[in-house]
Amino acid sequence: MAGAVKPDSVSMGARAMFFMITPNESSFQKVEDVPQYVQQATPFFIGLMVLELVVGFLKTGAPVVTLSDGLTSVSAGMISRLPLLFMRGCELTAYMFVWDRYRLLELPWDSAWTWWIAFLGVDFCYYWVHRLAHEVSIIWAAHQVHHSSEYYNLTTALRQSLTQQFTSWIFYLPMALIAPPALFAAHIQFNLLYQFWIHTELIKDLGPLEWVFNTPTHHKVHHGRNTYCLDKNYGGILIIWDRLFGTFAAEKEKVVFGLVSPINTFEILYVQLHYYLYLLRRSTAFKTISDKLLTFINGPSWKPGKPRLGDYIDNPKVTGQEVPHDPSWSLPLQMYVVIHFLLALGTYHDVFENKMMLSQLTILGMTCYVLLTLTSMGFLIDKRPRAAVLEMLRCVVMVTMLRYGYMKPLLPALIVTTEAFVSLSLLYWALQSFSQMLSIKKKAN
Ligand SMILES: [Zn+2]
Ligand SMILES: [Zn+2]
Repeated sequence: MAGAVKPDSVSMGARAMFFMITPNESSFQKVEDVPQYVQQATPFFIGLMVLELVVGFLKTGAPVVTLSDGLTSVSAGMISRLPLLFMRGCELTAYMFVWDRYRLLELPWDSAWTWWIAFLGVDFCYYWVHRLAHEVSIIWAAHQVHHSSEYYNLTTALRQSLTQQFTSWIFYLPMALIAPPALFAAHIQFNLLYQFWIHTELIKDLGPLEWVFNTPTHHKVHHGRNTYCLDKNYGGILIIWDRLFGTFAAEKEKVVFGLVSPINTFEILYVQLHYYLYLLRRSTAFKTISDKLLTFINGPSWKPGKPRLGDYIDNPKVTGQEVPHDPSWSLPLQMYVVIHFLLALGTYHDVFENKMMLSQLTILGMTCYVLLTLTSMGFLIDKRPRAAVLEMLRCVVMVTMLRYGYMKPLLPALIVTTEAFVSLSLLYWALQSFSQMLSIKKKAN
């Protein structure tokens, strides 16, 4: 093989999503040369999500995505990538450390054989990463984020965990003993990209492909909270691992999506971190040290005296009549949230584009602003009593950032309008929180 061909990044992003990629165009000698396939695919994420919304509406007469759930999923995806502003991903860093010091043999980076071995290796390791993320509570605390949506659509694919990468790196290290890091860096991205398009209910049975590949039907079962769906179908690209290791389940009765106990909130940091606090509280309730430790190591359904994964007897029964938690909110508030979310998305995009030119302090400040915005949006959707006060504070931060050029308005020509809009919003929230305070005081009197 002659080595890597200069990729056409647009078509590459789309093809990588469906694993339609050749070894010749995606084998590189150095990690630095591996394209950012996930980044290149971003326009296709957006395009496919819009397509799903349109086709879903035409097919079912109802939107397949709701604003509150979709925004929470995209926000989780944004938060999961924030650590990359400050460091290289844990998985690749650990992989390169082991490769540099402990490799046993060096498979040639420009051989198609090595490319296919790396593909199988990454997919096999992913199966175990994913399986243990469901079977070990402390890792589940990270992975539950991905399962916290009560819907199953393309936005659900983006609902990723902030903390999962801090444990998943361990599982890929055996590969680092033989396979060059640049191939790992490419395949870990292909594996992630492939799993985007399978998060949809609009694609049904894919015939013989269902035997070998992970498909929308198989992964749909993985997202179910019906007892027959729990701890099943862990595969990334291939489903053969589930068939081999006895964790495969085909779709039977209607799948109800989400966590066994839904969290019923859109507060984004709670979505990411609540299960760690739950585990801590749960472990302190047990008397013996072994039970306290086993709370973190055994499965989420485990209890003292039960097998490692527990049983599902105490889980709430699924009837098929469940309705997802989806609060109703006024159209002006929906528009307000969407506009301010897009402004934060613009800042998020800018900071990733320009991270090499920005100081660490500026990056930290902009990251905090994005987190503050996403948190405040969650408070608004949840209609929390403190939402108005938090939103007021956030607007002050935003106007300051707009004034000093740390963020751009949606359209540069509209900067005056944007600031006026922001100021009016500020006034609106100030008045609303004031009237809320007055009504609380009245009630107290
Ligand atoms: Zn999972
Ligand atoms: Zn999924």
